[in-house]
Amino acid sequence: MAIEFDDQLGERIVDTTAHADDEQGTLRPRKLDEYIGQERVKENLRVFIEAAKLRGESLDHVLLSGPPGLGKTTLAGVVAHEMGANIRVTSGPAIAKAGDLAALLTTLAEHDILFIDEIHRLSAVVEEVLYPAMGDYAVDIVLGKGPAARTMRINLPQFTLVGATTRLALLTGPLRDRFGSVLRLDFYSDAAMEEIVTRSAGVLGVPISLEGARALAVRARGTPRVANRLLRRARDFAEVRGEGAITDDIAADALAMLDIDELGLDDVDRRILQVIVEKFGGGPVGVDTLAAAISEETDTVMDVYEPYLIKLGFLQRTPRGRMATEGAYAHLGLEPPMPAAQQWALFGVDRE
Ligand code: ADP
Repeated sequence: MAIEFDDQLGERIVDTTAHADDEQGTLRPRKLDEYIGQERVKENLRVFIEAAKLRGESLDHVLLSGPPGLGKTTLAGVVAHEMGANIRVTSGPAIAKAGDLAALLTTLAEHDILFIDEIHRLSAVVEEVLYPAMGDYAVDIVLGKGPAARTMRINLPQFTLVGATTRLALLTGPLRDRFGSVLRLDFYSDAAMEEIVTRSAGVLGVPISLEGARALAVRARGTPRVANRLLRRARDFAEVRGEGAITDDIAADALAMLDIDELGLDDVDRRILQVIVEKFGGGPVGVDTLAAAISEETDTVMDVYEPYLIKLGFLQRTPRGRMATEGAYAHLGLEPPMPAAQQWALFGVDRE
């Protein structure tokens, strides 16, 4: 089985987007049994895979959604492994022209898995090529221009498209409808994160105490990619400051140096909350304005930062914009603003 991953280095320590560091290949679980957590998703896949194998057919197209770093790419690799198939990895922005996708599709073999990350970013013309490919296993090629143009249909082998998206809502209806199943990955529980940290430490060959693993796990914002990053930084600390093992002290030192608080928030997360509270009176503030205020891209704020702040209950998405919750004020050590009715009451006005 060949796996081609398009990996690159990221900068932010709790970065959930960057596709990995050098050891990532080995840290990725390969089999369904090694893939920790996401029980419901795994159970579904197990049934689909078994059924497809029994029928000797390719697996129906699968769409995986969820925030970055939760294991969508890894899961696609796992599916390929379980199906005994090859996987080709690409992404929406990487497929610029319809012809690029057509060329890619025609190189697939029977039962191959084509993984398209950020599938919501495919252009409309490229998406058009996918429809017959997914539905009829065929691509239509247009030959010539103008009145003399003809289309030629090329049949494709039965392949499986595994699409991944951080924004299910941005997917067009026709594309979404062509997937046999849509599976949503969620942030991992602390227990699952602990297992992931322990497993990764084992793969990297770094000794780690139970408390050390727990400390890293609870601050990894329910995201395996973050856990692996924290683990690497803690390993650096263990090698330089300690005896090579990640004890609870070493883990605590590493996390303190990285400025990651007890909930796994880093300075950018805190700045987002601070800006809403201090500059926009707690909100609502539009996401574009918010992104500009912290000098980040809107997409990054929406994909990377917001989901976890929302999960913690610190941020609310309302039709009028983002609002900081009482929990956010408490986390920043600030007093939440008085509810409007109470403010009016100060002036003797009953607005209840
Ligand atoms: P996504 O494609 O959702 O952005 P990835 O599949 O690239 O996320 O996962 C990021 C990293 O997290 C992987 O390299 C892998 O090492 C680790 N990982 C993800 N999911 C799991 C899991 N369920 N169990 C163990 N490690 C995981």
